[in-house]
Amino acid sequence: MRLRVEPFGAWARLDSVPALVALDRDAVRRLGIDGGALWDGPEDAPETAPLEAHVAVTSRCGAGCKGCYLDATPDGAVPAFEDVVGRLEALARAGIFTVAFGGGEPLSREDLGALGAAARRLKLSPVVTTSGIGMTAERARELRVFEQVNVSYDGASEAYRSVRGFDGAKIAERAMSLLAAAAVPFGINLVLTRGTFDAVEESVARAVSLGAREVQLLRFKPAGRGTGTQYEAARLDEGQAREVVPLLARLSGAGNFRVRIDCAMVPYFSAHDVDPTLLARYGVYGCEAGRRLLAVTSDGSISPCSFAAPAAPFSERTVRGLHRSLPVLAFRGHADSPPAPCSTCALRSVCRGGCRIVASHAGSLSAPDPECPRVLAHRRGSLA
Ligand code: SF4
Ligand code: SF4
Repeated sequence: MRLRVEPFGAWARLDSVPALVALDRDAVRRLGIDGGALWDGPEDAPETAPLEAHVAVTSRCGAGCKGCYLDATPDGAVPAFEDVVGRLEALARAGIFTVAFGGGEPLSREDLGALGAAARRLKLSPVVTTSGIGMTAERARELRVFEQVNVSYDGASEAYRSVRGFDGAKIAERAMSLLAAAAVPFGINLVLTRGTFDAVEESVARAVSLGAREVQLLRFKPAGRGTGTQYEAARLDEGQAREVVPLLARLSGAGNFRVRIDCAMVPYFSAHDVDPTLLARYGVYGCEAGRRLLAVTSDGSISPCSFAAPAAPFSERTVRGLHRSLPVLAFRGHADSPPAPCSTCALRSVCRGGCRIVASHAGSLSAPDPECPRVLAHRRGSLA
C-alpha cells in the first residue's frame, strides 16, 4: 500500500486491487501514522498535490481525427525518453499516484513499454490510451506493464467514421482482440456525440464482446481541431444530455463490465434527482482541473487538464504548487465561487460548476457550464 498523508487524513493506494481510497484521520492513526503539522490545520485545507497526471508522451499521430483535442499531426514533437522519465520521477516525488499516458498516439513510440516500466519502478500506476494504430501481438504483450489500456472506440464502422472522420473501427477492434489474447486488461473510451448517441449501447456491446472490461464515456470537448462548427455539430443536444443518466443506468446493468464517465459529464446529473453524497462515495467527480488532476504536455509544460492551455513550465515545484498558481486559480475561480445557478446547486460539491473548456468556448471561463440542463433551465427561467 502507498500512503499519502493529507489534511483530511490520507490517500491510500491499495496493492491488492487497483483502488485509491480516502482515509480519515482516525483510520490513519489506527495504521500507526500521525499527520504531524498537516493535521494542525483544518481537515478541508488543500491537498498536498494532485492524484493523477495526464502525460502526453508524444504529439505525433497519423490518424488525423477531425476532432483531435491536441491537433496531433504525423510530424508532431516526440520528447526524448530521458525527458519523459525525468517528468515521471518529478511526478512520483510530488506524490502523484496515477499517470495516464496519451498523445498523439502513444503506440507510435517504440519505447512505450519501457516508459510504462519506468513508471512502475517509480511506484506510479500507469495507464495508456491508444487508437490501436500500430498494435501487433508483440506490442500488445509489451503493454502488460500497464495497469490498463484504453482503446479509443466510438463504435462500429459508420459511427466511428462520423466521429473521427476516417473508418478506424476495424483497427480499434483488432487492437482489442490482440490485447485480449495477450491478457492485457483493457477498456474503451467512447466519445458521446449527437450523431452517434443512439448507437452507444450497440457499440459498448461490441467492445465487451471483444473483451473490454471497462467503458468510459466522454463528453466531446471544444479544443484543438474540435472547435467551431465541428463542436456545434458534435455536442449533445439538450434532450440527449437529459438521457445520459438513464443510459448510464442501462449500461450499468448490462453485463460484466465497469462504466465510468469523464469529469465533464457530471452536469448531466442535474436533470435528475441524484444524491451528491452517493456520487462522491463512488468517486464520481466533476471538474478536478488543477486540483486532483494536472496535465503535462509533450513539450514539458504543465496545465490544469489536458484540454487547457499551459499554465507553467514543468517542474516538481510547479506540480506541488499547481493549485496555488495564479493561472490555475484563475482557471478554477468559477469552481471555487460560482454564480447562480451553480451557487445553489446540490451537485456543486461534486460537479464544481461544469467544464471550463466548454464554458470558455461559449465565451467565458467564469460562466456556468452552458450545456448543463440546470443552467439551461435557469436561463429559461424555469428552474424548479
Ligand atoms: S448548475 Fe452548475 S454545479 Fe450544478 S450541475 Fe450544473 S454546472 Fe454543475
Ligand atoms: S475543464 Fe474540468 S471538466 Fe473540463 S475537461 Fe478539464 S478537468 Fe474536465
